[in-house]
Amino acid sequence: MDIEQFRKAGYQAIDRICDYFYSLEKRPVASQVQPGYLREALPDSAPEQGEEWDTIADDYQKLILPGITHWQHPSFFAYFPTASTFEGLLGDLYASSTSNPGFNWNSSPACTELEAVVMDWSAKLFGLGDHFLNSSEIGGGVIQTTASDSALVAIVAARSAYTKKHPGVKHEDLIIYTTTQTHSLGTKAALVLGLQCRALQVKAEDEFGLRGDTLKQAIEEDTKQGKHPFVIIATIGTTSSGAIDRLNEIGEVVKGSSLWVHVDAAWAGVTLSCPEFRDIAQLDYINKYGDSLCVNFHKWGLVNFDASAFWVRDRKLLTDALDITPEYLRTKHGDAGTVIDYRNWHLALGRRFRSLKIWFVLRSFGQEGFRNYIRKSVALNNYFVSLVKQSPSFSFVTKPSFALTVFRLTPQLHEGSKISPTQESLNDLNREFHNRTLTRPEILLTQTVIDGVFCIRFAVGAERTTKEHIDKAWALIQEEAEVALGIWAKKAVSVPN
Ligand SMILES: *Cc1c(COP(=O)(O)O)cnc(C)c1O
Repeated sequence: MDIEQFRKAGYQAIDRICDYFYSLEKRPVASQVQPGYLREALPDSAPEQGEEWDTIADDYQKLILPGITHWQHPSFFAYFPTASTFEGLLGDLYASSTSNPGFNWNSSPACTELEAVVMDWSAKLFGLGDHFLNSSEIGGGVIQTTASDSALVAIVAARSAYTKKHPGVKHEDLIIYTTTQTHSLGTKAALVLGLQCRALQVKAEDEFGLRGDTLKQAIEEDTKQGKHPFVIIATIGTTSSGAIDRLNEIGEVVKGSSLWVHVDAAWAGVTLSCPEFRDIAQLDYINKYGDSLCVNFHKWGLVNFDASAFWVRDRKLLTDALDITPEYLRTKHGDAGTVIDYRNWHLALGRRFRSLKIWFVLRSFGQEGFRNYIRKSVALNNYFVSLVKQSPSFSFVTKPSFALTVFRLTPQLHEGSKISPTQESLNDLNREFHNRTLTRPEILLTQTVIDGVFCIRFAVGAERTTKEHIDKAWALIQEEAEVALGIWAKKAVSVPN
């Protein structure tokens, strides 16, 4: 493809992407294809001779789009939102056009400098303390690929800092602390690093947030056994239910110890942009006790996948753990320490120019536009919460969190009813109900299990979702609930307890 052919193909691609967005609402939210559909449709090996671009471009429409689940669909309420904005998309396009690995300042000064600036902009947007700013030259921010990479990097830095302070500690005695509600990234990091991981118990009565007492007791138990807990992953807004660990209590327990506090706010961290959510999201305690923090822009933060913002209180602890500088990567500025060499802040050498899309988004929306978008999502979720509250057939499993509601069907039984549903039976009912919603192409909801309770998650955040989509979703939910309840009641009557 030459430059003029690219110009033409590029115009066509943008046209088709616009058409895609216009047609989004008419598409089934979840892809309807069967496993293996694409292998059947594609040849066994790449073509020997190059093909015409038009054929290739048409095959994207014909073969790929049907296999896409439309996370940008306004009735996508599954998992968590994944941002997509045209500003972000254009950022990726420009970044691709220079295809630059930007691993150190010299390899392309703009890649490093823009990242350092937009991470400071973002830190200020979220109200982070000055110590997290790159301009502080003590802490700083870097864009990682995902929250999982952010956690892994934090744990590597924590381990290095801990073993330097406690020489002679055996690798096998080190422990990572998570909770039973922490994202699997904690266990994954433990697997990758060959370390032990202990999931601390959280309770329903504490809204599944970790308490200081539980942490304190675990530290005492493990220390007694010669173990060394060196990092705790505290979550602000768990994936399952949006639970929030009590950072104030955790901070009090770890104060003065060398336990590293990594705050995983991958999904909910963007709410820190709004002053009214900062107390719930524990901003003061993040600033006071957090050694590192992760907020994904690519979830609910208007920036296309991938862009995981990661801050550390002390950048030296990060680079001490990750700095390897072979001769061929040495530079005058790097040696003098006058520039950031981001290759020492993450796992890979090369890195995508992700700051460009964050820069585009923050400029085009402004801080106010960003906050308004977060507020809109929370308001829509609050509206959904009000609908659930009014219905006698549903109840909340956990307290609604920001733009996430976890609920389930709990049928009202009239007095004297022979049915006294067991947990298992209620789980069956909710599984049936959820399976029924999965047969409806106009919506997508996902499930979770909390403390043995099967429940449904309703996550708001797609940019195009409006009140009408919530109303439509609620109508569908009620419809399927009624059918599921009918089936369940019949079964329950025929098999009395
Ligand atoms: C989604 C999520 C993750 C994982 O995010 P990735 O960026 O895909 O690794 C981790 N933690 C929380 C709280 C999440 O919501």
